[in-house]
Amino acid sequence: MSTPGPDRVILAVAVPSPLKRVFDYLPGHDAPEEGWVAGVRVRVPFGRRSVIGVVIDIHHQSDVPLARLRRIDTLIDRTPLPADWLWLCRFAARYYQHSLGETLSSAMPALLRQGRPLTARSQARWFITEAGRAPGEVLSRAPRQAELLAAIAQHPRGLVASAISALGFNRPQLHALRDKGFIDCHEESVAAPASVGSPKTLAEPTLPLNREQASVLAELHQDLDRFRVSLLHGVTGSGKTEVYLQLIEAVLDRGRQALVLVPEIGLTPQTLSRFRKRFNAPVIALHSGLNDNERLDSWEAARSGRAAVLIGTRSAVFTPLASPGVIIVDEEHDGSFKQQDSLRYHARDLAIVRAQHDGVPIVLGSATPSLESLARARDGHYRHLRLNTRAGNAAPAALSLVDLRGKPQRGGLGPQALTAIREHLQAERQVLVFVNRRGFAPTLTCHQCGWLAECPQCDARMTLHRDPHRLICHHCEQQRGVPDACPKCGSADLRPQGAGTERTEEALQEAFSDTRIMRIDRDSTRKRDALEQTLTEIRQGGSCLLVGTQMLAKGHHFPHVTLVVVVNADGGLYSADFRALEHSAQLLTQVAGRAGRAQHPGRVLIQTLHPEDPSLRLLVEEGYDALAEELLTERRLAGLPPFRFMALMRGESARMEAVIELFTRAGEAMRAWLDERGLAVHCLGPVPAPMERRQNRYHAQLLLSADRRSALHEASAWLDEWMTQQADARRLRYSIDIDPQEMY
Ligand code: ADP
Ligand code: ZN
Ligand code: ZN
Repeated sequence: MSTPGPDRVILAVAVPSPLKRVFDYLPGHDAPEEGWVAGVRVRVPFGRRSVIGVVIDIHHQSDVPLARLRRIDTLIDRTPLPADWLWLCRFAARYYQHSLGETLSSAMPALLRQGRPLTARSQARWFITEAGRAPGEVLSRAPRQAELLAAIAQHPRGLVASAISALGFNRPQLHALRDKGFIDCHEESVAAPASVGSPKTLAEPTLPLNREQASVLAELHQDLDRFRVSLLHGVTGSGKTEVYLQLIEAVLDRGRQALVLVPEIGLTPQTLSRFRKRFNAPVIALHSGLNDNERLDSWEAARSGRAAVLIGTRSAVFTPLASPGVIIVDEEHDGSFKQQDSLRYHARDLAIVRAQHDGVPIVLGSATPSLESLARARDGHYRHLRLNTRAGNAAPAALSLVDLRGKPQRGGLGPQALTAIREHLQAERQVLVFVNRRGFAPTLTCHQCGWLAECPQCDARMTLHRDPHRLICHHCEQQRGVPDACPKCGSADLRPQGAGTERTEEALQEAFSDTRIMRIDRDSTRKRDALEQTLTEIRQGGSCLLVGTQMLAKGHHFPHVTLVVVVNADGGLYSADFRALEHSAQLLTQVAGRAGRAQHPGRVLIQTLHPEDPSLRLLVEEGYDALAEELLTERRLAGLPPFRFMALMRGESARMEAVIELFTRAGEAMRAWLDERGLAVHCLGPVPAPMERRQNRYHAQLLLSADRRSALHEASAWLDEWMTQQADARRLRYSIDIDPQEMY
């Protein structure tokens, strides 16, 4: 009776568990109308829990004896979840070596994860009929109905039920009018109301493109029906967004959808309104402010094709689309596209894979492309499209290095910077001061004995904050009071060392007491509205000083800023991370791009203690592209990405010996296996992480690198499997990061 037969159905189900395998189940009482298919959600018993999983495969035999297979409890979906979504999740789980069940679960909206049906919420929209335009005397004895009819008549697109009740009308009044034939209604999706009226794609005219933009757009138009990666490499303000908008127009005209990925900090109300104003079709934003219902509505609107344009951050790459037409990744170099825990995916890389699968074009845009993308453009894999001039004829900003050695400083600013700030403020302009650290000062030190305020839990110094007056570790958030005297020698001569945003703000307030100063960092903008308010004020254009961290550098346009001062450019110069210089050059260039966007040319002063540093000089004198060339050459010679591929295994434990011991064995086993297989993969380590102790846990790493991705994958999969077989691996936390972006 329990022998597997060809007609017996066994379902392989991916469940949300870290185990990297699927589990077999027997069907329950109900089956989908069209028979079992991959992609339907089911509720299944798992251990002692009941969980929601996704059917991945249907087969007729199992390695588990039939008598021990459990049955599915309930079938949730009659029709499967979108196939392209399922494909992408399977790819991501395989590529990033993550559990498929967890990948699926994290890539679907929370309500689907909880077993809600995949249906969109709809709402009734009421509109006036022909008869309703000439009601005659019929309503003379029903004044509220007459008022309601007048309210609806004022809205050519009609009014939704919630708006009607907000006006103080009720359901019986609505129904009475409908029964008289004066109004009628239709149901529409809450997230993506159908556009009423004009069938045209555009709601506002496009800007006439300049010559460069026009030739780039013409190139992009040539490949609307096939997969092709284009790197849109255009200086800040060169009009990349206008090119995206006009490309999307062509895609919408063909009845297809566009997916736009932006960095976390880039999804501002301005960005969104620029897209919404342009198109006469539903533009949906996927951001962290959505509640669970809105998230599901958006997902459904995208899946069903009702949404025309989807804009979102990293996780939006998993949004299903009914008829994909183009994918755009704006600021493709931005670090926020890489998820740093759990499923460690890179949204740009997955977007490329997805575009290839869907057979649609993808555009990667940036003023400072990642070395990965530049290398692919140089070797011809990507089409390299350039925009070298700023749109609207704004002149590029002039950069100069300012030698800070031996100069007196106030809040991190030397005399030359202070003089320049004074001049620009006197000319009624706006000045932006960029500080790479929030808080008052990076640390507190004793002038007598050299004591430094260190975090008791991390190999790091604590940052001095003024408001609240505390020492705070930015790595573990540990806080303590600020001592009155040195804990080591008792001296009262404790001094803040270096400058953070609070200290620079304070010094500027002293030096320019009549000027409005706005500080923008994580501490000053904990409330979302606070940032929006500040930005609105800045855009009004009055003379003011902006002090901020990289929150200021990205995504925002400050047309009235004519001077940018970078307090300290040396952060990326002597770092252990091989990407530090690339990232710091991108950031400096982005900050510099804030200056002089409108009529006035901008100036950028970059303060440094290393004015002779060749990389810094190259960046300032010749720009990001020249430095990127140089860095690519160095990377090639050093055998580093993008010329080699890497996987990083990180481990942490309360005892250093525990990680080192296990990772040493792992390294030995790995190297022995590689030798035996003759696989060209290099295994380095274990080595302690650059910051060995964090929150009283010790971190170590093992690094794999290879010329070929396939070899790297084979090796890291083997290592992962080996780890699961070690009893002591269960006592510490470890993870494998494919294509790691940060080496800590
Ligand atoms: P980027 O995305 O490259 O930083 P934007 O698309 O935001 O550049 O354009 C920068 C500014 O130039 C915007 O204010 C935009 O409205 C304007 N702009 C873009 N293209 C044109 C054009 N063809 N003619 C006039 N102004 C333009
Ligand atoms: Zn001391
Ligand atoms: Zn700490």
